[in-house]
Amino acid sequence: MNPRQPLVAGNWKLNGSRSSVKALATALVDGVSDVTCDVLVCPSFVHIQDVQSVVANSAIKLGSQNCSMQSSGAFTGEVAAEMLQEFSCSHIIVGHSERRQLFGESDSIVAKKAAAVQNAGLIPIICIGETLEEREAGNWQSVMSAQLDAVTAVIGIDGFANAVIAYEPVWAIGTGKSASSEQAQEVHAMLRSKLAELNSSVAAGVKILYGGSVKPANAKELFSQPDIDGGLIGGAALNADDFLAICRAAG
Ligand code: PEP
Repeated sequence: MNPRQPLVAGNWKLNGSRSSVKALATALVDGVSDVTCDVLVCPSFVHIQDVQSVVANSAIKLGSQNCSMQSSGAFTGEVAAEMLQEFSCSHIIVGHSERRQLFGESDSIVAKKAAAVQNAGLIPIICIGETLEEREAGNWQSVMSAQLDAVTAVIGIDGFANAVIAYEPVWAIGTGKSASSEQAQEVHAMLRSKLAELNSSVAAGVKILYGGSVKPANAKELFSQPDIDGGLIGGAALNADDFLAICRAAG
C-alpha cells in the first residue's frame, strides 16, 4: 500500500440542514465505490450523528471541523475530541484559517488542539497557510515555519506520524483562485523537508493535503504533484458529483 494513501476531506463548514446533509452523505455513499483514495466528510457538530448513521459501514470516514483544546470541565459551548470519538470521528480539522482569522485562534491554541485530538486517539488535520499580504511580501516561508514549529513544539516530531497537514493559502480559500500546482508543490516540499530535518521517516510518511479552490477541473494536476497527498475541499464538497470527481482525481 502507498505509505501516503491519498486523502480527500470535505469541510462542509456552516452549511446544511439535517435532511440536506443526509442526502449529501447518501449520494456520496452511493457514488464512492470506484474511489480508491481515503474519503472523509466533516459536517457541523450537530449533524455528525445524522451523517454517522448514513456513512456507517461505508468507505467514507467521518470527521469534525473543530474541537476544544480541553477534554472536559467548565468550558461552556465547547466540544471535546473525546466526545467526537464517541461518534466514530476519525479526524478533526484544527487551525482552519477561518478559525484563526474569525475566532482568534493562535498558533499556540492550534497546537494544543492538535495534541487534544491525538490524546483522544484521533488524527488532527492541521491547517496552515499564508495570507496574500504575506505571500506578496515574500514571507510565506517564515509564516509556514512558525505555524509548523508551534505544533512541533507541542506534539513533537513523532506526533506527525499520527497527523495530517493541510496547506491552505488563505488567499485561495473560497476565492476561486487556487494556488498553481507549482506553487503548492513548492510549499509542500518545503514543509516535508523541514520535518525531515527532525525525522526523515516521519516526514516521508506524513500526508500533506492542499486546500483552496480545488475543483474537478484542477484537482488532477494538483494531486499529481509528488508532495501533494490529496485535498481539503470546501465549496466543492457540498456538491456530491463535484466532490466525487475530486476524489477520483486523487485515486
Ligand atoms: C476550505 O475552506 O478549507 C477550503 C479549501 O475551501 P474552498 O475549497 O471553498 O476554497
